[in-house]
Amino acid sequence: MEIKIGLELHCQLTGLQSKLFCSCRCDYRGMSPNTNTCPICSGLPGTLPLLNQRAVDYAGMISIALGCKIPTSVVFYRKNYFYPDLPKNFQITQYNAYGISSIGVEGKVDYGVKSSKIKRVQLEEDPGRLVYGNTNLDTLIDYNRAGVSLVEIVTEPDFSEPKDVRIFLNKIVSTIEHLGVSDTRLDGSVRCDANVSLEGGNRVEIKNVGSFRDVEKALRYEITRQKTMSVRDIEVRSETRHWDDARSITKQSRQKEEEEDYRYFPEPDIPTIVLGDDYISSLKAKMPELPHERKTRFLGVYGLSDHVAQVLIDDKELADFFESTVKIYPSSPTEIANLIVSDLLGLIDDSAKEQRSIFSGLRIEEKHVAELVRMIDQNVINRNIAKMILSKITKTGEMPSHALDEMDASIIDSKDVISETIESIFKSEKSAVRDAKQNPNAANFLLGKVMKLTGGRADPKIALNLIKTKLAVLE
Ligand code: ADP
Ligand code: ZN
Ligand code: MG
Repeated sequence: MEIKIGLELHCQLTGLQSKLFCSCRCDYRGMSPNTNTCPICSGLPGTLPLLNQRAVDYAGMISIALGCKIPTSVVFYRKNYFYPDLPKNFQITQYNAYGISSIGVEGKVDYGVKSSKIKRVQLEEDPGRLVYGNTNLDTLIDYNRAGVSLVEIVTEPDFSEPKDVRIFLNKIVSTIEHLGVSDTRLDGSVRCDANVSLEGGNRVEIKNVGSFRDVEKALRYEITRQKTMSVRDIEVRSETRHWDDARSITKQSRQKEEEEDYRYFPEPDIPTIVLGDDYISSLKAKMPELPHERKTRFLGVYGLSDHVAQVLIDDKELADFFESTVKIYPSSPTEIANLIVSDLLGLIDDSAKEQRSIFSGLRIEEKHVAELVRMIDQNVINRNIAKMILSKITKTGEMPSHALDEMDASIIDSKDVISETIESIFKSEKSAVRDAKQNPNAANFLLGKVMKLTGGRADPKIALNLIKTKLAVLE
């Protein structure tokens, strides 16, 4: 069955000072409703928009990072519709009808072994925000967001699997983070609509999806729904559906507008913006290191495995954390990376990964991880103990050496101590000892007991050797 999925991703350029066409603040979050507005973004008669140059720079950098072509001039359009979130009753955006208007077109993004084509990248203004009450009568509107710069990234419908969509979205977000043009963990700064159609049928657009995990879920649900309809010979209508998070289903919200309904026309108050080749080359020269370049560096300079490097660069915060830890303790980058990817990430629950900071709720800093790895290197502790310490200090915020002192032992590698422990276990676990005598694999059960009794502090290699020696001399 042919499945086509295409995405429309909206990303606020939160790194700016002001809105796209006026001097109201870009960081409206936390302000009292309707205090971050002016005659321009309220659309009062007689006002004129003035384009934010840096917004054009940022949108251009996103286009370059996504492999798009940048035309030498761009045009803004009015998209007309009546809805309370638009104070002007039109949105200033871009539109590719009569030649190229968007800041970026025809890009391509590789993710894993696959790739997706980018149709266009366009710069537009964010509408205001509707705050829904309990009834239809108490819906409120906050225009603080109206006019904030938004970049829309539109892909070709060339995904066929929901899980690929999530991988792709994570890559885009990491790219945008690396460009430094948006803080993508701010609430509502990145929003994704997903379109899906089956067997060349009509496409359904799913809106209002809160997280990338939900985009994947919503797509799975929608594909099943459309499959079921086609089995029953019911036509799938072209419509917009909303994701209902609580019930995990998509619900019809409206029949889709046709393009004509928007009466697009060139924005008469903003002239054609001529970018020119020099400008485009200067943008290219300003590009920071992008995730795939960073990954190549991680592989080459630090000798990380492909998987570990990928996990790190998928989240800029994690990659930055890794590199600042290496700065503090440069001797063991691979051990630092492994500790972060296999142990530290394990302590972060999935919901926190979608929060403001991946480490929110954990009291962990680079200096903690650096010290922990140094202790492993100097054989003060083994990896088991490191893991125990990590789980403790992320709650207390203390330094690993302090945590270890409190745990009242360094690594127990003295054969005497381990032998004593083994003696007592051989007495209490008689049947396990008999099994182990017959089947050497069962010795691991005894090793587990040793580790438990020593609070994970025995050196497992030494312990296992002692167990085997003792088993061998047993009658
Ligand atoms: P339109 O110009 O009709 O609005 P676009 O070409 O702008 O359509 O595409 C809007 C979104 O719909 C894009 O993300 C695109 O990938 C997606 N899309 C287009 N055709 C299909 C299809 N047949 N099935 C699924 N998604 C589609
Ligand atoms: Zn304003
Ligand atoms: Mg469209």
